[in-house]
Amino acid sequence: MCADTANDHKPNKILSLLSNRCPRCRRGKLYIHANPYKLKTMLLMNDPCPVCGQVTDMEPGFYYGTSYVSYALGVAISVASFIAWWALIGFSLSDNRFFYWMGVNAVLLIVLQPMLMRLARTIWLSFFVSYSPRWKEGDVVKAERVNKSMKNAW
Ligand SMILES: [Zn+2]
Repeated sequence: MCADTANDHKPNKILSLLSNRCPRCRRGKLYIHANPYKLKTMLLMNDPCPVCGQVTDMEPGFYYGTSYVSYALGVAISVASFIAWWALIGFSLSDNRFFYWMGVNAVLLIVLQPMLMRLARTIWLSFFVSYSPRWKEGDVVKAERVNKSMKNAW
């Protein structure tokens, strides 16, 4: 077995989503800058994917739909923090613990927002691009037209 074959494993879908990898090769990094908290550059994407050449901004406004994903992620995190608060601190009608949870959850969502925005884009792209075991062969479908001036127009 040569080294090339050893590298041919299929990376885990959840892990590659969480680490913001290209959905086609699950190897290339989607974002140019590693730090999501540099807010000016956090959504700058490698286009195409530096590993397999997958186009990441397929049409003007492609990432509009991420708001649905972002909303679902926000709800999921709120449910998780509610359950964690319930188990660790508890809720009562006779004090304000519920409102403290609301405050803590709001801060949590704001702090996580840059990471959630990236993850939402990664998940959105994965709805349209599936893993290709032949990514090395350059079988990527090229975009029909890419309007550079419309990049990030959303
Ligand atoms: Zn790729």
